Amino acid sequence: MPSESVVVVSELTRRFGAVMALDSVSLSLPRGAVYGLVGANGAGKTTLIKHILGLLRAESGSVRVFGHDPVADPVRVLSRIGYLSEERDLPGWMRVEELIRYSRAFYPGWDDSYAEDLRVTFALDPAARIKNLSKGQMARLGLLIALAYRPELLVLDEPSSGLDPIVRRDILGAVIRTIADEGRTVLFSSHLLEEVELSCSIRRSSKHYTSAWPQPRGRDRHSLERRGHSDRGS
Ligand code: ATP
Repeated sequence: MPSESVVVVSELTRRFGAVMALDSVSLSLPRGAVYGLVGANGAGKTTLIKHILGLLRAESGSVRVFGHDPVADPVRVLSRIGYLSEERDLPGWMRVEELIRYSRAFYPGWDDSYAEDLRVTFALDPAARIKNLSKGQMARLGLLIALAYRPELLVLDEPSSGLDPIVRRDILGAVIRTIADEGRTVLFSSHLLEEVELSCSIRRSSKHYTSAWPQPRGRDRHSLERRGHSDRGS
């Protein structure tokens, strides 16, 4: 694997009974890129993400993250990934500040001042019970937890679901760009094409269901498009 590839998926196939969720999917994410996975509901975006997190085992084909098999070596892989699930999965009985304290205990790289900045930016009341948060507030809190330990790879499953348009465009976009500027990698899924176009620049058609748009920094759109053609083949 080239050293700059954070995720390499090769010929990944996955069926659930008669449903072909992933049909020989291949992709490679270079470090510092922002990739958007676009596809209709049921296209297989979450299934692909679950393979990258090692939550599902490849039926055929392979998945490598930081050069490791995420199923065989979950600790080495997951400690470097920030993940926002589509369902958010946050403990409703905790308060916002309790979840932040609880989460930081798991990650040596947790950045307190960044977490506090995000809490203020996302207008989250530290004393609020998670079960009483709105869908959008829940999405912001999930994003805060995924971001605050500054993971090398940020995986966001439908991150804008529940977010209002301003947060979606201004905050989420800024967060994603900052992460890429710091040389970290972002993979996010969406069923909204225009949303992916806000954060990413190149179209790369994958065989079956998605397109991906990496966004290397400091280049104009024209050169990005040329680069997109030259590394096609995944
Ligand atoms: P959405 O945008 O609606 O979240 P998606 O692109 O993330 O969709 P997946 O959740 O990956 O799509 O699902 C892909 C297909 O695989 C769907 O047809 C879904 O019903 C099926 N599927 C996913 N997980 C399972 C499972 N555990 N058991 C059976 N079928 C599944």
